[in-house]
Amino acid sequence: MQTLQTPARLALISLAIAVVVLALKAAAAWLTGSVALYSDALESVVNVVTAIVALVAVRLSARPADASLPYGYHKAEYFSAVVIGVFIALAAVLIFYEAWQAFTSEHSFSINAVAITVSLVATAVNGGWAYWLVRKGREEKSLALESDGRHLWTDVISTVGVLVGVILAVVSGIQMLDPILAALVAINVLWSGWEVLRHSAAGLMDVAVDPKLLSRLREIIAANADGAIEAHDIRTREAGKMTFIEFHLVVPGSMSVEEAHQICDRIEAKLREAVDEATITIHVEPEEKAKHSGIVVV
Ligand code: ZN
Ligand code: ZN
Repeated sequence: MQTLQTPARLALISLAIAVVVLALKAAAAWLTGSVALYSDALESVVNVVTAIVALVAVRLSARPADASLPYGYHKAEYFSAVVIGVFIALAAVLIFYEAWQAFTSEHSFSINAVAITVSLVATAVNGGWAYWLVRKGREEKSLALESDGRHLWTDVISTVGVLVGVILAVVSGIQMLDPILAALVAINVLWSGWEVLRHSAAGLMDVAVDPKLLSRLREIIAANADGAIEAHDIRTREAGKMTFIEFHLVVPGSMSVEEAHQICDRIEAKLREAVDEATITIHVEPEEKAKHSGIVVV
């Protein structure tokens, strides 16, 4: 149960932090009247929605497979990505609208020490959590955690950029910098929406694991297939946190079923050490079926 609790707890902490950061950024925007800071706050709305969806996905995909969904609930998170996509598009439209309003009409804003401090605190909270996520992700070899952390980093960088820009706008007296910055943030928001969509489309289309992981899986199969002749037709796909791996294993025709199954169990155990959650299917066949094009293990 320990492994099921941790992702849910992380998702909950992420949600709490996103809400706090959103509140701080909204306060900074309200204190200054800056469109750029407003757009930075809206960007955080996306993080709140993402965190809620991640929480639901973590809980849903933790459900065991059942008779009607024998491959499990893992793809639930790709559907929830649609919700995120809608929110991201909405946030971008709102920012563009506000930026346009500020650009075409008399628009003025002011900065003060309180607003800058509030914004800096929000950034520090975000940055601290991003740093922790990336470190934890590397420690536990979780690509999902690491990419969550990296995504947060881009938020931190854009907030710092917005802050510098807003201060520059006030110092230089070029107030138009404010809506221009806001429009840049909107483009960044659209870009992150595109990334979310691309990721879920890839998941729905059963895209293979990344080439680095695939070559590692091949090495593991080759290193643990003593007694077998070759492995071929390796196919992989990912569904949420679950990685599906299947391949053909060629063994001598005279080998007993028991022996062949032992080889399979050994390979499966080693593959499971490399991939957090894996569903592995191995098709065993006699040597006449060898292709000599896959991994020659003997
Ligand atoms: Zn075959
Ligand atoms: Zn078995």
